[in-house]
Amino acid sequence: MSDDASRGLASLLLPIVDAPAATACGSAPVAAPPVSRRLPPWLRQNLAPGGGHAETAHLIAELNLETVCSSAKCPNRLECWSQRTATFMILGNVCTRPCGFCSVPKGKTEELEADEPERVAEAARRLGLAHVVITSVTRDDLPDGGAEHFRRTVEAVRAATGAAIEVLVPDFIGKDGALERLMESRPEVFNHNTETVPRLYRTVRGRKSVYAWTLQLLADAKRLMPAVKTKTGLMLGLGETRDELLDVFADLLDHGVDFLTLGQYLQPTLDSLPVERYVPPEEFDELGGIARRMGFRKVASGPLVRSSYHARDMADDVSARP
Ligand code: SF4
Repeated sequence: MSDDASRGLASLLLPIVDAPAATACGSAPVAAPPVSRRLPPWLRQNLAPGGGHAETAHLIAELNLETVCSSAKCPNRLECWSQRTATFMILGNVCTRPCGFCSVPKGKTEELEADEPERVAEAARRLGLAHVVITSVTRDDLPDGGAEHFRRTVEAVRAATGAAIEVLVPDFIGKDGALERLMESRPEVFNHNTETVPRLYRTVRGRKSVYAWTLQLLADAKRLMPAVKTKTGLMLGLGETRDELLDVFADLLDHGVDFLTLGQYLQPTLDSLPVERYVPPEEFDELGGIARRMGFRKVASGPLVRSSYHARDMADDVSARP
């Protein structure tokens, strides 16, 4: 269990930031002086008002649940948990992929817990969530990649809460029928993160993840359920260029993606990939504007944006693609 209400504020500090190199977005990567060990001012956060964070932490601990908020050391945890929002992570707390940006533990996976869907549903009900985001580790070791467990969790949460459900899923590479199984649960939002540009895929996501498969998965979800809103996210500051980002935006639109999130990559542990550049807020604004003009139905772009940050706002008030 990674969430622990007793950890207190010490566990809520931002991730490691002593990154050794920088590149300029909008041009080819160039050698540059080391990035400052200090976070730029736009990434320094004030503590959220109110004390609701502890209540959420206690509930998650009581029900023995995992959240990506803790496992991925999300910088927004104080804010989200104070507002009684969390992103549940199912299928265990050990991942079978070696992604260089992620702090979720890798190694020997855990047995699935048959009652996990009901425990997630109970947490969502007690938090009063109207929009529930459910994600998971990647389980290449399971024959269906965990799709059936995912489906059961979506259905349990919906039955307990009536909430809209957003699934933030792994790629299910090589798992025939897994996506179809999951989509039987009819989530309102289907989210699968692209994470980075194709040139950096192997470095950032490891050798098993494939850019073309990401695009195909997003398109297949829409094909199987045309009313679903598809969503993806990219981390900036890993060495990508502006032209590469714009090419990815175009690819995503070609594959029917509705929503886009853009956020700053932050190094979660000393062993994780370094930050290549801190992208200033004005550049996030500009890229977000470009993405909207290119055709995404909704875009959230900012240094602290994460794929599940204010997820309900993004999903609200958007009708199906005409
Ligand atoms: S942005 Fe998402 S992952 Fe981060 S704390 Fe909020 S709900 Fe959790």
